[in-house]
Amino acid sequence: MKREIRRACGHREVVTIYGPYKGREDALRREEEKVCTECFARAKAEDAARELVELEALFNLPSLEGSDKQIEWARRVRATRAKQALSFIKSRGVAVSVFVARDDVPLARALRVQSAKRWIESREIPDLVDWAAFMLS
Ligand SMILES: [Zn+2]
Repeated sequence: MKREIRRACGHREVVTIYGPYKGREDALRREEEKVCTECFARAKAEDAARELVELEALFNLPSLEGSDKQIEWARRVRATRAKQALSFIKSRGVAVSVFVARDDVPLARALRVQSAKRWIESREIPDLVDWAAFMLS
């Protein structure tokens, strides 16, 4: 069943309700308590942007070099890597502030690479040690 409803954000949206006829009114009410697809996507993008800035601040990451488009992409790649690095650092019981200041740790140095192109090229290397070696090669 398709029905146009008013979402919690005030936008109207057509929703499709499946299942037995009996539960459909409840299902519609639950849908009305949610924000629309567009508002949900915007909130998600805002969360990701906020998290990206927080990670850059936490690791004291430098600005990147490249075209605007490369930099935008590379910052997202770098944020994903910084999150991976953060789990690793926490698992070792090291404070991030101590970690970022270490010049003898390849992972810390690799996170400071400023070439957007290099970041993009490195995006699919799963292992942190392999990744750091690639970034510093
Ligand atoms: Zn909306």
